[in-house]
Amino acid sequence: MGKGKRKKAKESRRKLRRARKTAERGPAREKRWEQQYREGAGEDIHAPFERIVSRRDRRRREIDMAREMLHEQQLEPAGELPPGTVEGVIVEVVPGGCIVEAEGEKTRCVLRGMLKSLETQERNVIAVGDKVLFLPLEEGAGVIERIMRRNTILSRKYMQREHVVAVNVDQLVVVASVDAPPLRTRLIDRYLVAAENGGLDAVILLNKMDLAPDDAPRRALHVYSDIGYEVVFCSAETGEGLEDVKTALTGKSSIFAGQSGTGKSTILNVLQPGLKLRVAEVSKTTRKGAHTTTSVTLLSLDFGGYVVDTPGIREFALWDIAPADLPYFFPEFEEYIGQCSFRGCSHTHEPRCRVKQALEEGKINADRYDSYRRLVESLR
Ligand code: GDP
Ligand code: ZN
Repeated sequence: MGKGKRKKAKESRRKLRRARKTAERGPAREKRWEQQYREGAGEDIHAPFERIVSRRDRRRREIDMAREMLHEQQLEPAGELPPGTVEGVIVEVVPGGCIVEAEGEKTRCVLRGMLKSLETQERNVIAVGDKVLFLPLEEGAGVIERIMRRNTILSRKYMQREHVVAVNVDQLVVVASVDAPPLRTRLIDRYLVAAENGGLDAVILLNKMDLAPDDAPRRALHVYSDIGYEVVFCSAETGEGLEDVKTALTGKSSIFAGQSGTGKSTILNVLQPGLKLRVAEVSKTTRKGAHTTTSVTLLSLDFGGYVVDTPGIREFALWDIAPADLPYFFPEFEEYIGQCSFRGCSHTHEPRCRVKQALEEGKINADRYDSYRRLVESLR
C-alpha cells in the first residue's frame, strides 16, 4: 500500500470509528460544541449543567467549559489579540503554567484567567505539544492567549482516569531490536494498535542490525511494510540506516516507544549528541513524587522536528479501546470488515467471517491475526 493510499485508508478508519463512537454515546463534548458554533445547531449548551451532579463532576464540567472557551477563541477569531502575540509550542507543562518554545527560544507562560486555577487541578487543559499563541511579557515570561485545536491526543490510564501524555504528536516510533532484547512482533502489534487508537502514524525501527546473523529479522518485518507501515532497519552501533531514521523523523513530532534496552536513547543520542534525554533509571529513583507522571517534555531536533521525552511512560495502556473498534486498528482487515455474515462480527468465532476467510487464503498474516485474537481477549 502506498503512503497516500494508506493515509486515505487511515482517514476512513478514523471516520468509521468516530461514527461508531457517536452512535454509541453521542458526540464527544468538543465536537458537539464545535457543531453548535460552526453550524448553529440548536442544542442548549447549558443542558448538561441542569442535571444534579456531584461536586467533582461539576468541577470536571467547568474544566470542559473552560477548554471549550479556549477553542471558541480559536474557532471564532473575531476577538482581538493583543498586539505582539507569538505562535509557539508547549514543550513542557510545569506547576502553574508551561514552557513554550518559539523559534528556538523558550518562554515560561501562565494561562489567562480562571484557566490558571483549573490547570492546577486538571492537567489536561494544556498538554505538551499544544500549539498556542502567547504574549511575551518581560524577560522569558508570557501569557497564553489562545490554544489551537489538537490534531492527535495520546493518553494513558492513570488512577483510573485519562491522562493526556502529549498532543499533536504525528507519529509513534516503535523501536525493536534484533537481539538483547529479542524481537517480539506481538509487542510491536500492541504498539501499532495504540498508535492507531491515538490517530498517530507509526514507524517501526528495527535496531541492532549489527547483531543480525542473517536476513531473518528483515523477513520477519516484511508483513508490516506489506500493510503500509514504514519500516526502517538500523544500527546505532555501526551507523547503518541512521540516515533513514533521520529522514523519518525530520519535520515531524515523534514519540518513541518500545521495550527497554532496544536502543531508543542510544539512537537519539547518536542522531543528536547532547539531546537532554532523561534515561529510564532517573524516573525509577524519583518515583515517589508526582513528577514522574507529568514530566513529559518535547525536545527539538536540530535537523527539524520534535521528540517527546516521557520518562517512566514507556508502556502505553490501551486506553479507551472498545473491542468493536479493534478490527479497525488492523489496517489489513479493512477491506474485509463489513463483508462478514454477522453484523458486528468480532472475527473470532462467527461462521462465514470474511476476515477469517482472508486469513485462510493467506491474505492476512497468521501472526497478526493471532495478535488480534489476544487483544480481543485482553479487552474483554
Ligand atoms: P533504551 O532502553 O531503549 O533507551 O535502550 P538504550 O539506548 O539504553 O540501549 C540499551 C543497550 O543497547 C545499550 O547498552 C546500548 O549500548 C545498546 N545498543 C544500542 N543500540 C545498539 C546497536 O545498534 N547495536 C548493539 N549491538 N547494541 C546497541
Ligand atoms: Zn468477521
